[in-house]
Amino acid sequence: MKKERNQNIYEKVFILKKKFNTVVYSLLVIFVLAVFAIIPKIHLNGKEVTEIIYTNNYKEAGVKASFLGKDITRNIKIKSNVKNKKIGTYEVVYYLDDFFIPISKKRTVKIIDKEKPELSLKGEKKVFLCPGREYQEDGFSATDGYDGDITKNVKTIKEKDRIIYIVKDSSNNEKRAIREIIYKDKEKPSIQFNGLNEINIALGTSFQDPGYSASDNCDGDITKSVKISGNVDTNKEGTYTLTYKVTDLMGNSTEINRKINIYKNITPNPGVQKPGVVYLTFDDGPKEGTTNIILDILKEENVKATFFVTNKGPDELIKRAAEEGHTVGLHTASHDYANLYSSTEAYFNDLYAVESRVKRVTGFDSKIIRFPGGSSNTVSRRYSKGIMSFLTNEVLRRGYRYYDWNISSGDAGETTDPNMVYQNVISRLSHERPNIVLMHDIKTYTRDALKNIIKYGKENGYTFEAITTDTEMVTQRVNN
Ligand code: ZN
Repeated sequence: MKKERNQNIYEKVFILKKKFNTVVYSLLVIFVLAVFAIIPKIHLNGKEVTEIIYTNNYKEAGVKASFLGKDITRNIKIKSNVKNKKIGTYEVVYYLDDFFIPISKKRTVKIIDKEKPELSLKGEKKVFLCPGREYQEDGFSATDGYDGDITKNVKTIKEKDRIIYIVKDSSNNEKRAIREIIYKDKEKPSIQFNGLNEINIALGTSFQDPGYSASDNCDGDITKSVKISGNVDTNKEGTYTLTYKVTDLMGNSTEINRKINIYKNITPNPGVQKPGVVYLTFDDGPKEGTTNIILDILKEENVKATFFVTNKGPDELIKRAAEEGHTVGLHTASHDYANLYSSTEAYFNDLYAVESRVKRVTGFDSKIIRFPGGSSNTVSRRYSKGIMSFLTNEVLRRGYRYYDWNISSGDAGETTDPNMVYQNVISRLSHERPNIVLMHDIKTYTRDALKNIIKYGKENGYTFEAITTDTEMVTQRVNN
């Protein structure tokens, strides 16, 4: 019995102890829950991990904090190591340091570069190379918004018919470019003439080809491959064409022509020689301000003269000159040596242009001409060899008569003084021959010298006439 009682007490104690433990544990749980419930809470605004492109600045999104339902956001302190514009991974820590245990929350900030670098190729992106030739790099450059110049990081991969250029920036953003290499000779060869491409030679003399050379971008000097077709018969007048043709190894070919004019020296109709007559000639006009005054003086003095006109100036002055009995001659439309002496065709086109102007304005077909620079000019040699030799004959064949001069007034550059113009003219006048006086009606000093020249002439037994197609040609020695 006693043993039974003992056992009952023991069981009771055990049960009591168990109850006690349960109470303690429950209290502990309640305590922990209570503590947890009253710990301040920090909530991040925005993301926990934020990515920012390096060109932008990190903007603090902030947090919200509460403690026992009360807003304590103001108590939160922030610690950040974010460096704007600098790529990296940073941390922003939000914490409370006045609570009895440390409370904090972190945010990760990544400053990143997602942009590909720029990669540009110098030279052509599609390169044509002569077969067997190696490509010489034309260069390239690479820049990155973050890293700056990264040209030295460019890697090239050479393949059979292309080059691949690759560059990566420090964030591993990659950019590629490709240069295509095509092995093909696309360029035509070229032929260069020694001398000019139009040659004028007198009938019965001999023609010697002044030579030529040919070259090709791939084949080099291919002068030996030039083939010439056509022929020149120097014993027969006319224009001959020689064709020079060359073909490179790829089959590209080029041909150019050389014109050979074989001309016969023509003896012009001698015309009438009038010693002691003064033919005043005015070139390069008409021009308002000078030509009109010159016409006034000539009218006043009842003197007839000759105007070698261009396509400049007003029509009305040409019309007036013709109406007042002067001769309107042709000087070419442009007076541009480089153009009109570049070929015989160019010369005649220029001459015909002024001829049609004069015809339109005056109604007359003028056949009296003066070569710009005169027939003895050497400037034309620069543009076409022998052109004056050819033209001085050809104009006669085409029904023109050309007049140079035997007295220069010096108004084309020698002097700008009316007294000198006067002296130059009167000192060279002769009763033994016709006097063809070169003057320019576009010059004020010539205009101003004119009255005295006429006065001197009249006082010294000279007469003044305009050139007609009957007038004997006064020509100089041809030098080209
Ligand atoms: Zn002139």
